Amino acid sequence: MAIGVDGFRIGLDDTDAASGLCTTWLGAVLAERLEPAGCRVRERRLVRLNPNAPFRTRGNAAIALLADGDPGTAFELACALVEEYAPLDAPMTNPGVVVAERALPVAFYTRAVTDLCTIGEAVRALDSAGARYRGYGNGRGLIGATAAAAAEFADRTWELLVYREPARWGTPRHVDRESLFRAEADTFPHTWDSVDRANRAVVCVPHTPDPVLFGVRGESPAWVKWAREMVVAEPNALETCWVTNQGTDAHLVPGECGALREARSYAVAGTVASTPTTGEGGHVTLLIGDGGERLGCMAYEPTKGFRDVVRALRAGDRIVACGSYRHGSLNLEKLRIDALAEAAVSRPPPCPACGKRTTSAGAGKGWKCRACGARTAEPERVAEERAIGPGWYEVPPVARRHLARPLCRGTETDSIRRHQPEDMPPGPAGSADSP
Ligand code: ZN
Repeated sequence: MAIGVDGFRIGLDDTDAASGLCTTWLGAVLAERLEPAGCRVRERRLVRLNPNAPFRTRGNAAIALLADGDPGTAFELACALVEEYAPLDAPMTNPGVVVAERALPVAFYTRAVTDLCTIGEAVRALDSAGARYRGYGNGRGLIGATAAAAAEFADRTWELLVYREPARWGTPRHVDRESLFRAEADTFPHTWDSVDRANRAVVCVPHTPDPVLFGVRGESPAWVKWAREMVVAEPNALETCWVTNQGTDAHLVPGECGALREARSYAVAGTVASTPTTGEGGHVTLLIGDGGERLGCMAYEPTKGFRDVVRALRAGDRIVACGSYRHGSLNLEKLRIDALAEAAVSRPPPCPACGKRTTSAGAGKGWKCRACGARTAEPERVAEERAIGPGWYEVPPVARRHLARPLCRGTETDSIRRHQPEDMPPGPAGSADSP
């Protein structure tokens, strides 16, 4: 969507703090205040940026509002709101406010989600576009605010965020657990990650003191609203349906073993070098290689059942590993098995003399026949029956990063699922698919 002559974009970032304010809430409130001030908000965007960026806010979320009206008024309203609510005395809270009437470079967004940007680069992009901007504290929030205002999504999903009444902030949330499971069961795969069915866990209700009551993620505004209607919860103050780059893998770039950079996220092709090992705490280490280079991949304990997939890999399997490169290893978010190697397991051989099955004669001592006493040094090698097959495997919803594309949306090699109306339950069918 191009910025029209009378259209402009507002970017907002880094208004969070330990006290729990959240940038999306501030954006939702700003949208409410813009309308009576004569600005029409055309689109509300929740923009996730590089999840490994140092100094990132929790979840590294920024917001952008696409609006028509007077940009000067919008800028004053946005700054006033930040000054009213953001804890500006908190050292880790450095908000940024941007209002751009001319297009900012999309490449700045792309770098902010896949790589790292500096405050100076943000300021240069803003000055080049003649944008209004204000950075508070050390100005770091200008990076996310600029990226959000510059963003164009190659792929998109929606999240309906429900915000609590201010009087309830910091108190325990009341969201009926069973209603969340019902909503997911009735709308999956058109919505996802409200709950984790395999791990019997609620995923969409935060535990932090911020204003979010819960959020429903899905493929269209109609689907997330349909699922939200099924959720039984405490009275809420505000709801906003955000269009977002969540669930799109916008953070992943192709990478090669031996050529990865810290704090970026990659999809890396390689051959499994050895049988994965499980270490202390249940963390699984997988070693893959490509042309003499080696890459350690980690499936940490919170990835739960995904670790069983990693443990089932064998030397020679060809895979693509996806995840964030941190402290010299790739933290797996998902993987694709392209080809399984012929894996073999040893078992006691039949007796060379009488044919009966032998038993082990002790570690390193070969095998011995209990019937006739004959010995043999060679085990029988049989093909291992593999527990996994080619295809994609992912971490469960409890361990999923915001940007990671869930497999229920299809994969890079499969086209995105496009459900026909007859596949849909009553309700969202026939509803508009765009806001
Ligand atoms: Zn024998």
